[in-house]
Amino acid sequence: MQLPTGLAWHAVDVCEANILRVTEAYVDSYAVGDIWLVQGSDLDVAVDAGSGIVPAGPLIEAISRKPVLCIALTCSYDHAGGWHSFQQRACHRLDESSLADPVEENTEIADYLTDDMFRALPSKGFNPASHQMIGAAATRIVDDGEIIDLGTRSLEVLHTPGRSSGGVCVWEAATATLFTGEMLYDGSHGPAWPPSDSGAYCQSLRRIRRLPAETVHAGHYGSFGRARMIELIESQLADLESR
Ligand SMILES: [Zn+2]
Repeated sequence: MQLPTGLAWHAVDVCEANILRVTEAYVDSYAVGDIWLVQGSDLDVAVDAGSGIVPAGPLIEAISRKPVLCIALTCSYDHAGGWHSFQQRACHRLDESSLADPVEENTEIADYLTDDMFRALPSKGFNPASHQMIGAAATRIVDDGEIIDLGTRSLEVLHTPGRSSGGVCVWEAATATLFTGEMLYDGSHGPAWPPSDSGAYCQSLRRIRRLPAETVHAGHYGSFGRARMIELIESQLADLESR
């Protein structure tokens, strides 16, 4: 079957508390990560960057109408593939080199970006197997406990390794909102399970569990509340600890 082309690639939904969810409308959420745009008075923060199949930076910067800092929560293509297309790019120092010079071992494109994930193509002749992640240098290195000041609100960076050594989550204490990226989501992990560094991943899960989070905006499959967060963490810990 020939898939349609020429369609607008991204969809934008408004969530509570001035947060936008940007998705790639014609690709299964299994294969592309969500982008969460947290809007402040002076700065917006894009949490993750999508696949880069159609780079999201220019669209999100146009929507924002103010400076946007895009933070990569991990270095795989589905979360960081569009990172290069933002003017301001943040990451943890331990992911800096992977993002500057992406290689398949870290980007994991071949494992996930298969033909059956697509309901439309970005352009005629697009071949998922040939998609490549474009490297870029960070404009800001963030570390555990660092506060990102958006003006009217602030976000805290939590170092949560396990998927990548520089993996981070983003925490807004004032709204009890946690952005988990690749770290925790409610759906199939595919070949990403078990995670590459299971010990670090379990430690990161236990750290997340201690947070008084009420809302989780995840890297795939949308959002969930505290009860589901605890359920997912408990089941993942049980699975990993039994191996
Ligand atoms: Zn992912």
